[in-house]
Amino acid sequence: MPLRVNNLRLSIEEPEGNLSLHLARALGVTPADVGHWRVLRKSLDVRDKRQLQFVYNFAVEVHDEQRIAPHRAGGAQSPVQIEPYDDPPFTMPEPGKEPLPGRPVVVGSGPAGLVCGYFLALHGYRPIVLERGTPVNERIHDVQRFDAGGAFHPESNYLFGEGGAGTFSDGKLTCRGTGPDVMRVLELFAECKGQQIGKPDIITYHRPHLGSNRLPAVVKAIRRKIIAHGGEVRFHTKVEDLQCDEQGMRGVETSSGLIATPLVVLAIGHSARDTYEMLARRAVPMTAKPFQFGVRVEHPQTLINSVQYGPKHAAYEDQLGNADYSLVAHGEHDLFTFCMCAGGHIIPSVSQEGYFCTNGMSLSKRDSPFANSGLVVTVPVEAFEGTDVLAGMRLQERYEKKAFELGKGAYSVPTQRGVDFVKDRMTKVIPPGSYPRGKLSADLREVLPPLVAKAVKHGLMQMDRRWHGRFLPDAVLTGPETRGSSPVRIDRDSQSRESPGVRGLYPIGEGAGYAGGIVSAAVDGLRTARAIIQRYAQVEG
Ligand SMILES: Cc1cc2nc3c(=O)[nH]c(=O)nc-3n(C[C@H](O)[C@H](O)[C@H](O)COP(=O)(O)OP(=O)(O)OC[C@H]3O[C@@H](n4cnc5c(N)ncnc54)[C@H](O)[C@@H]3O)c2cc1C
Repeated sequence: MPLRVNNLRLSIEEPEGNLSLHLARALGVTPADVGHWRVLRKSLDVRDKRQLQFVYNFAVEVHDEQRIAPHRAGGAQSPVQIEPYDDPPFTMPEPGKEPLPGRPVVVGSGPAGLVCGYFLALHGYRPIVLERGTPVNERIHDVQRFDAGGAFHPESNYLFGEGGAGTFSDGKLTCRGTGPDVMRVLELFAECKGQQIGKPDIITYHRPHLGSNRLPAVVKAIRRKIIAHGGEVRFHTKVEDLQCDEQGMRGVETSSGLIATPLVVLAIGHSARDTYEMLARRAVPMTAKPFQFGVRVEHPQTLINSVQYGPKHAAYEDQLGNADYSLVAHGEHDLFTFCMCAGGHIIPSVSQEGYFCTNGMSLSKRDSPFANSGLVVTVPVEAFEGTDVLAGMRLQERYEKKAFELGKGAYSVPTQRGVDFVKDRMTKVIPPGSYPRGKLSADLREVLPPLVAKAVKHGLMQMDRRWHGRFLPDAVLTGPETRGSSPVRIDRDSQSRESPGVRGLYPIGEGAGYAGGIVSAAVDGLRTARAIIQRYAQVEG
């Protein structure tokens, strides 16, 4: 029986070539007794700055298990835990019996839509994936032009286009969930990341990261797989309306005409406000939900390295790359870090002309001299200043519009030093930073709901105390950061994953309120494909 060995701690200076020797020692056997082994997970522990450690979990076969019995008996005292490795395997069901009288349509090619489309195609359901934006190669040019000061493209930007918000995201492949579905998604991404082999490996490292420069290749490779398995991907095709009756879905009206279909997977992300409005008009069941709102903070990366890695940080930078961090400040409304981008860039994460908000990304090398992170508060539904289902979206819009105006309609970013924000004064000299389209000194309170502004002020001071006075002095705030999560949930049945209001409609991913990142959106896509496969027979013809 294979074993799982957890929590084997080694100095980061220890060569990886010695792992099998350490594994044998931990098991109390000779190296010859150790059979096939692999790293399940590798994480970095920076709590003791004198001795940073990698922490490993392994799956291992031992030739003669009897030999390790005494060690296992005494395992409670040892930091290393040894237990049977019995993770369930990844499975997909046999196709169901219910006939599906037409090809399924997947709306949106973000991680949720692409992965759902991939598994439907792989299992013979010939999906048609519709994307309002452009193929990723065109999209790269549109985004670069916008960053360089060019015009905003409403259908090809940081949020819309092939790969969705995932394409120009930071590419951190972290996910709270575990298990075979998460592993299958990571394996699919690893399989698709082509020639640029990433280290540390995205399947085992606890903070896997691809970077915005690698994501386009992944996205393209998944598209090619969908097509190779009989699916289709159509760009410049925005779904503008649903055609449904009491029997359920009949088709979708798109910017390129009507497509008849009995089954629609809605993977629209959290920024397709026109599509949310259409769903509300069609009375598709939706519920307002809390979402995250705040600012983006930027520091010099060397400061973060020194705080996280300690006095030997320069040596560790060479070995480990730039450091990240995660903080929570408790208060009436907690303030927490979100989407921290080591060696990253602040970007205009905009999907509508005349509105402005920030987000962050980094390239695979994480080599910009700046570190940025969202600092966000979860805004409860009661604070939405409205009672309709889209009240949260209107709250986002109100402050994003204000931010656009403050940025003089040129997508310059409203900026304030952290020390000035907590002292309620304007910033006179803005320090250098990574934002590409120019910064303007502003009172950030103007772009934050009062409860968020209060939590940011309180939280900044608490974070500064936690870092012994090193968080605040160099912190530069920009914002607003409004698109951390969806302000609305598109309801669905927890078992069938189908909308309770429209038969054949399957809301998935972040925009529907069932995911909060690349991997969780992709896993939601996979699980919805599984539910569809289990229920329906393969599409004929
Ligand atoms: C700058 C940035 C950095 C991020 N960094 C990370 C990170 O490091 N790690 C992480 O886990 N997450 C990150 N995220 C979040 C992550 O990108 C999202 O959680 C994820 O992409 C959500 O996937 P999705 O498929 O649900 O939706 P999306 O990725 O938003 O995709 C939705 C797609 O649907 C399309 N669409 C919308 N409406 C229509 C319509 N009517 N017709 C046709 N097509 C339509 C859109 O064009 C889009 O392509 C980041 C996000 C941003 C913006």
